[in-house]
Amino acid sequence: MRPEQTKEIKHLAKGRVHFDYPLGQKGTFKAGGKVEALCEVDSMDSLRNLVEFSQGQSISCLVLGGASNVLVKDEGLDAVVLFLTGEFENIQRVDEPPAGLWVGAGVSLFDLLLTCRNMGLGGLEFLAGIPGKVGGAVRGNAGAFGGQIGENIVAVEFVTETGDLVVMDREGLEFGYRSLNIPDGAIITRALLAVNEDDSEKVRERIVQYLIEKKDRQPLDLPSLGSVFKNPPGDYAGRMIEAVGLKGTSIGGAMISPKHANFIVNTGRAKAADFLALVKLAKEKVKEEFGITLELEIKVLG
Ligand SMILES: Cc1cc2nc3c(=O)[nH]c(=O)nc-3n(C[C@H](O)[C@H](O)[C@H](O)COP(=O)(O)OP(=O)(O)OC[C@H]3O[C@@H](n4cnc5c(N)ncnc54)[C@H](O)[C@@H]3O)c2cc1C
Repeated sequence: MRPEQTKEIKHLAKGRVHFDYPLGQKGTFKAGGKVEALCEVDSMDSLRNLVEFSQGQSISCLVLGGASNVLVKDEGLDAVVLFLTGEFENIQRVDEPPAGLWVGAGVSLFDLLLTCRNMGLGGLEFLAGIPGKVGGAVRGNAGAFGGQIGENIVAVEFVTETGDLVVMDREGLEFGYRSLNIPDGAIITRALLAVNEDDSEKVRERIVQYLIEKKDRQPLDLPSLGSVFKNPPGDYAGRMIEAVGLKGTSIGGAMISPKHANFIVNTGRAKAADFLALVKLAKEKVKEEFGITLELEIKVLG
């Protein structure tokens, strides 16, 4: 970025910007390269101004939530990365039937579930233990235990690449396996989620039960990005990687988890390149053995 662009980004982000920021520190893998600028955006005006400015200046601009599903290559990423805070962290209850919650894209799934428990609202407990924010979860139709957030979505509000604000309701939305049909580059600002009145204690119990099951199945003691590959139709990526004998294999500071073969964990000093070398190895071996090309579930940036 040129100095005058840097200055304007700083102004539009109201000073809440870090240049050359090591993104891994904000995410769940704790490794990877730097991003050119990281802005904490706390209002709709600021967001739309930043998006319009970046578009006009041909600066690439993207939004992240908890950075729990993205890896920035060690060489870094020339882009302005937006994190939604302030007014994007609000949760507003809608009482007229059907009961619902307008949830800001910057709300963590953890805080959302805490609110549901406190308000006695059920239906989202299957999201327990998934890191990240509501915007990221909606964008990728996050799910677990047979549920997907898309099933609870009544409407999604987003800002387009050109700065327009759009609300799309259920009829226009198509959720697939870790996908949603909003335009590329759209920034989700909030979503209306359907919930049902329930007993707080029962909601709490279900959340705890899911957390226990997750802890049993997943290596939560080390940094990771969750499942690395999508499951191919009718099979599980983890089962295939295990079958080709790669469980526990390390390259540099990254290791294919001995507990769950679709997780790559950071054992201390992983680089993004170590992670990507394991991805390549797993893809090659699975292709050789099963003739199937595994597709990434995580996003690699840079
Ligand atoms: C230990 C662990 C367990 C996990 N378990 C699960 C699981 O059970 N199920 C599951 O589905 N996932 C799981 N994940 C993966 C990940 O947490 C989810 O996919 C999560 O929903 C990603 O949200 P995020 O906010 O971190 O998104 P990020 O990683 O920040 O971003 C992911 C993508 O979404 C886009 N995005 C983020 N916010 C927005 C927004 N506001 N508008 C538009 N696009 C946006 C980004 O540009 C990027 O392309 C797990 C990860 C870990 C580390």
